[in-house]
Amino acid sequence: MSDIISETFGSAVFNDRVMRERLPVDAYEALKKTIESGRPLDSSVASKVASAMRDWAIEHGATHFTHWFQPLTGITAEKHDSFLSGIKDGTPIMEFKGKELIKGETDGSSFPSGGLRATFEARGYTAWDPTSYAFIKENTLCIPTAFCSYSGEALDNKTPLLRSMEALNRSAKRILSLFGVETKGVISTCGPEQEYFLIDRDMYARRKDLIFTGRTLFGAKPPKGQELEDHYYGMLKMKVKSFMRDLDEELWKLGVMAKTEHNEVAPSQHELAPIYSTANIASDHNQLTMELLRKVAHRHGFKCILHEKPFEGINGSGKHDNWSVQTSEGVNLFEPGKTPRENAQFLMFLCAVIKGVNEYQDLLRISVASAGNDHRLGANEAPPAIISMFLGDELTEILESIVAGSKYEGKKRIDMEIGVDVLPHFKRDTTDRNRTSPFAFTGNKFEFRSPGSSSSIAIPTTVLNAVLADELDGFYNELKDAENFNEALEELIRRTINENRDILFNGDGYSEEWVKEAERRGLHNLRTTPDALPHILDEKNVSMMERQGVFSKIELESRYHIYLENYCKVIKIEALTMIDMSKKDILPAVSTYVRKMAEVVSGLRGVAEVECGFEMDMIKRLTSLSTEMYERMLRLEELSDSLGHINDQATANRLRDEILPAMADLRAVADEIETLVGEKYWPYPTYGRMLFAVE
Ligand code: ADP
Ligand code: MG
Repeated sequence: MSDIISETFGSAVFNDRVMRERLPVDAYEALKKTIESGRPLDSSVASKVASAMRDWAIEHGATHFTHWFQPLTGITAEKHDSFLSGIKDGTPIMEFKGKELIKGETDGSSFPSGGLRATFEARGYTAWDPTSYAFIKENTLCIPTAFCSYSGEALDNKTPLLRSMEALNRSAKRILSLFGVETKGVISTCGPEQEYFLIDRDMYARRKDLIFTGRTLFGAKPPKGQELEDHYYGMLKMKVKSFMRDLDEELWKLGVMAKTEHNEVAPSQHELAPIYSTANIASDHNQLTMELLRKVAHRHGFKCILHEKPFEGINGSGKHDNWSVQTSEGVNLFEPGKTPRENAQFLMFLCAVIKGVNEYQDLLRISVASAGNDHRLGANEAPPAIISMFLGDELTEILESIVAGSKYEGKKRIDMEIGVDVLPHFKRDTTDRNRTSPFAFTGNKFEFRSPGSSSSIAIPTTVLNAVLADELDGFYNELKDAENFNEALEELIRRTINENRDILFNGDGYSEEWVKEAERRGLHNLRTTPDALPHILDEKNVSMMERQGVFSKIELESRYHIYLENYCKVIKIEALTMIDMSKKDILPAVSTYVRKMAEVVSGLRGVAEVECGFEMDMIKRLTSLSTEMYERMLRLEELSDSLGHINDQATANRLRDEILPAMADLRAVADEIETLVGEKYWPYPTYGRMLFAVE
């Protein structure tokens, strides 16, 4: 084959094929075992792997290596070292030792630890995750690693994800054995759909708000927004097309299976979806995808914006986390089966998810909570902040009939035994009509639609895996000693549906009625990040995470502090940016424009008796609006000065209750002013120019 995909795919990855080619047989076998079993790598094997990796990397142009990890800042971090270790007889010695492969030290003091590292050690270490292949990026061999404190606390997003996958593997395997299913392992899979905006780089460079905060803090509605919906699946513009082509190639080289790319509803918004893979790999690949989106965009004269809500009045960006669970042999456990036994098994997994989502709504909400995503959840394009679950009418009917103990009289008549003999295969088109649900069953996987576009999918996926593992453990304990397995299972399924039906909702998640209905049902409505975060430390959440070995209480506490601090910092910076833009750019621009108008009036009146209706009107309206704007700015400044430096819950609450509303007030008047001031006097590119400029 000589097509471009086969030629480039994985060419920058130290993957299984390369390992088989380059490693001595015994080292290859030992490494494979390690990858499959998750046990630590023997040091003699590590040095063989390291030297093969080094030779391969140098042949492919690499000069440096780095441990590539995901600290809690959300983006990836790297510390580069060159392979050069000395010179012998004028020839450079290129070294890369086994211990450099498996363990690295890092001065982690600039990464957030939520007080964790201070309590233990000043430094953290990074450790190779052999389940994710090493790869070359810009002359650097990148080794995917976990990042921990010396006493083993996770300081990153990868470690808990790996732990959650391990928990799920353990629990799922155990319960499958009750069904007589033997499997080598159970893995969770993810396919994250990534949304983003592309705007002209020069325009971006002229907007302080985009530069400092990633979103526009001012901006009047353009004459044309997304009302025509003509962008969705619209023709890709030339420049965007060439960007996407380039991006695909870069991603393929790194083994990322970029598959579909299309426009989104909002102007200048696009989406990229890969073919799904193991959760850990999918998460690493999504981090790489975000990085490459930014880099390749730059090369094409664009700025890629990953913020959840860059433009007011225009859809924000999410990252749908498509999630499923399968055996190592490739059997999807969320796929309705063909035999009664398979169906019973499917229904049991389904029930475990239903119960888990119901009991841990708050954790799911927290897993997607950020200052940026707060603008999206609950607005009219994204799922609401209330977590509920969509199963589609057909599956809901089946569950209802199981509870009622009646026969399901569906499209196809189905005989009951543990509910159903043969479940219909749910096609996307019958299950996926509802786009308003935060958590939807889409035939053979779940689609969690709440995650924000800039966040790591590792966090929500960790919660999903841990929750499912815990529910499966509960089920196992109930079923393991049952005298009649089938009866016990049927009873378990019936009871679980009955007790957790409040989480199921097939209606319109955007409606006001749903908010009321959800409240009546007692579901959480954690509207903002400060509302959601404290629940991370609720007793039931801590004990579940500890039971599953995914997070310790200390780790959860540190995350609570980090997320809180992040929320506070983000909004404080936004407020300061608004003040700066108002004072230094917008208000002076208004003055200039008004003075211009005044000059016109006095100039004209010097030569003739004219009315100057437009100019006089602008002078009056703008001077009054700019006074109002100035006052609102002073108010925001005063509030923001009163905040202090501590980023605790009380500060977060004040930011939510006082600062954000003051920012909205300031923006409202500034946006009104923008509609009045002559465009060439306005200091920033307008929404209209930014969103519709790309050819
Ligand atoms: P949409 O219509 O929402 O754009 P698609 O059908 O294109 O959705 O698929 C969305 C994503 O779901 C893709 O990334 C796909 O690879 C992923 N996906 C499909 N099957 C699974 C699975 N079993 N586990 C995880 N992700 C999956
Ligand atoms: Mg989707």
